[in-house]
Amino acid sequence: MSEILIKNADTMLTMDDARRELAGADILIRDGVIAEIGQNLCTSGTVQSASGCVVTPGLVNTHHHLYQTLTRAVPGGQDALLFGWLKTLYPIWARFGPEEMFVSAQIGLAELALSGCTLSSDHLYLYPNGARLDDTIAAAAELGLRFHPTRGAMSIGESDGGLPPDSLVEREAAILEDCIRVIDAHHDAGEGAMCRVGIAPCSPFSVSRDLMREAALLARDKGVMLHTHLAENDEDIAYSQANFGCRPGQYAEDLGWTGPDVWHAHCVKLDGEEIDLFARSRTGVAHCPCSNCRLGSGIAPVRAMRDAGVPVGLGVDGSASNDAGNIISEARLSMLLQRVSRGADAMSAREALEIATRGGADVVGRPDCGRLAVGKRADIAIWDTTGVESAGSWAPAALLLAGPTRVRDLFVEGRQVVADGQIATLDLTTVIQRQNALAKQIAVAL
Ligand SMILES: [Zn+2]
Repeated sequence: MSEILIKNADTMLTMDDARRELAGADILIRDGVIAEIGQNLCTSGTVQSASGCVVTPGLVNTHHHLYQTLTRAVPGGQDALLFGWLKTLYPIWARFGPEEMFVSAQIGLAELALSGCTLSSDHLYLYPNGARLDDTIAAAAELGLRFHPTRGAMSIGESDGGLPPDSLVEREAAILEDCIRVIDAHHDAGEGAMCRVGIAPCSPFSVSRDLMREAALLARDKGVMLHTHLAENDEDIAYSQANFGCRPGQYAEDLGWTGPDVWHAHCVKLDGEEIDLFARSRTGVAHCPCSNCRLGSGIAPVRAMRDAGVPVGLGVDGSASNDAGNIISEARLSMLLQRVSRGADAMSAREALEIATRGGADVVGRPDCGRLAVGKRADIAIWDTTGVESAGSWAPAALLLAGPTRVRDLFVEGRQVVADGQIATLDLTTVIQRQNALAKQIAVAL
């Protein structure tokens, strides 16, 4: 039995069912699970002071393409719209292999961890030169983050009228076979799972209608979740209407892509009927505000989604369209963007933090995460509010208004992943050097 006691937090934002906020509270972790929350708790194990700190559940990232951390701020893609941006980056990604996938995932996940993230999904939809989903799973396991990789795919290449080059697409039968392989090898359906695999064709414009339908059938057969990009911008809606004769929500519904086991990234352009459909069917949304800003896609109707009862989580999206992967900054931006579109009272700092914690956990099917309550997993972020970012704040717990953007300490399943603001589980400096060397190699080879 191993115990860690986090003691005397100035404020603990539990995000539990009553949304309790506790002053001077302790939290006792036993074998990766929250065993007790209260005051004056004791342990024979390790004690960590949280005096001067705000303690929150670990944040949840519901959408990412970790491999893209190797193509941040690529000059030709810096100012392009979505489709032009993709066309700039595809030839670069075509040069990736297993090592690029592994190192990029380490960098992306480390960046997330430092910003308070304990659970991240990933959407890997291209597998050049022998790359496999397993490369990213190995990276997450080493770092110690809870990981929900999704086996993405593209099957319609340029010669079939699609967007990606033919070298980056796969045969649909091979895609489904590999989905089965990675689910059987890595998916853990149990409580407290550290790895859960999902199925995630890249988008309705990069795979066939058949593959969308087959993917949904396979996911239900295997009991795993479904994920894709949907209704990201105006071009996306126009493509759907021109090629499928309907809006994206209808397309998703027709192919079995709605339900509590489905979450869609972006959904910037969902209309009122589609929001109702998502609310009725409990279909989740990964809201990616920075990516939406970066690519000029628009402001997702998160206020309307939440009011209707759509499950909404937060995503940093791929680092090539963000270009950062800081989840707490993303939460702040989600709050600000709703205010831009609906006024200063459209979203509070607490609500945005709720979306970033229990909201995201619910979207990816993890009610055992995203809140601090007895029996839940010990995924915990400790924010030091004695620093310059919080100085002068009358409410340090309003982290998204004024507060640190980097955690002091982070626990995942009770294991310390960040200690004193540094990654504790691997030598990050070496990984950064490796990442930069790989980027340089690819740039030279282009
Ligand atoms: Zn994306």
